This record gives sequence, C-alpha cells and structure tokens, in this order.
Amino acid sequence: MRLILLGPPGAGKGTQAKLLKEKFQIPQISTGDILRQAVKDNTELGARAKIVMDAGQLVPDNVVIDLIKDRIRQEDCKAGFILDGFPRNIAQAEKLSETLVEMNLRIDKVIDLEVSAEEVLNRLTGRSTCPECGAMFHHISRPPKVSGVCDGCGGRLEQRPDDNRETIQERLKVYMGSTAPLKEFYKKQENLKMVEAKGSVEEIFSNVCKMIDV
Ligand code: AMP
Repeated sequence: MRLILLGPPGAGKGTQAKLLKEKFQIPQISTGDILRQAVKDNTELGARAKIVMDAGQLVPDNVVIDLIKDRIRQEDCKAGFILDGFPRNIAQAEKLSETLVEMNLRIDKVIDLEVSAEEVLNRLTGRSTCPECGAMFHHISRPPKVSGVCDGCGGRLEQRPDDNRETIQERLKVYMGSTAPLKEFYKKQENLKMVEAKGSVEEIFSNVCKMIDV
C-alpha cells in the first residue's frame, strides 16, 4: 500500500499517517520530520533547512527529492509507505512519478485532508508536540493530563518554531500557491480521494480508511 497524504499545514496529516502506519504496518515518511531531525542533529542540511523552515517557505526541491528517493528504496518500504508532507509542489510530484516508474511501482491512493484556513490557525497556534515520541496535543481540544508533559512517554512538550501566527500565515500562502495545485495533478491520475478533516481523530481516520478501501 503506497499512500500520499495531502492537505494544508494543520490538516492532521501527521496524526492520520501515524494511525495508517499502525494499521498497515508500513513506514510514515515525513519530510518535515526528517528535516527537523537534521536541525536537531546540527547537520549542514539542518542548518540550511532551519532558515527556510522558520520562514514558512519550502526547502529546495532537489534536497527533498534526494531524501525521498533514498528513503523509498530502503528495505522497510518494500511493502509500502505513507508520504506525509511530500510532494509539496508539481515539480516534486513529477520527480516522484518518474522515480516510481523506474522502480515499477505506483501510488495507490492520494488522500486530501480538507480543512479551512481559520481552523488551521486555531489548531496550529494551540499545538504542542512531544519531541521524544511525536505525540501531538492541543491546549483546548486535546490537552495533556499534566501541562507541558507528554501523556504517552513523559517527554517535555514543545511548540514548533514555525507554529506561530505569522509563519502559519506564510505556510498557508505557500500551500495555496504551490501545494494545492497538486489536487488537480492527482485528480487527472484518478487516484485522489477527498476527506473532510472535521470531527474527532477517530472519525477522520474511519473516513480515510473508507477512501482507501474504495
Ligand atoms: P511539515 O512538518 O510537513 O509541516 O513541514 C515543515 C517545514 O519543512 C515546511 O514548512 C517546509 O519548510 C519544510 N518541508 C517539509 N516537507 C517539505 C517538502 N516536501 N518540500 C519542501 N519543504 C518541505
């Protein structure tokens, strides 16, 4: 099963990808997570990516394309994978298609999680993440039992540096200009499925699964 999750920042791609990973036992490949890890590890890539990420812009296509090309060739991707946050524009999608053709593979479904810009702002400004296990919380809709502490592993919760109002607005602009056109791109390939990302995480997941089974 090879899946792509599309949708604006804050649509819940990461949350749904984690649930899909459990259900199908295939890896979640998040370019955002890979880049944040590089920032944490103080690599040269991380230092260059951080400036772009903090500004809410996209890191250069060749960087993420090379990351993905390497990643999907790894052993654990044999049974499939979930792309979360890639592709982000038409150039990345075209390169992905080329790579998959070379590998004799295809994407089974592209799930587009639909959510309004207003909801994105609400969700992201209140979001905190556990850097240890990746669990996500929201100070109103999913508060941790103990403030600032991960319910799952006890890690200290952090707010992403790009989850501030100004950068979120920039990320939304980038989404509208570069990423949203991917819906048309995948509609033409006839494997796009829309899911309204409203309601509980479980309700959304159930709708995502229905679309995968179609
Ligand atoms: P995300 O965690 O998917 O919201 O990504 C966080 C940030 O990482 C984005 O705002 C971009 O700066 C960068 N990023 C993640 N994925 C990509 C991608 N496919 N292409 C370019 N930049 C990306």
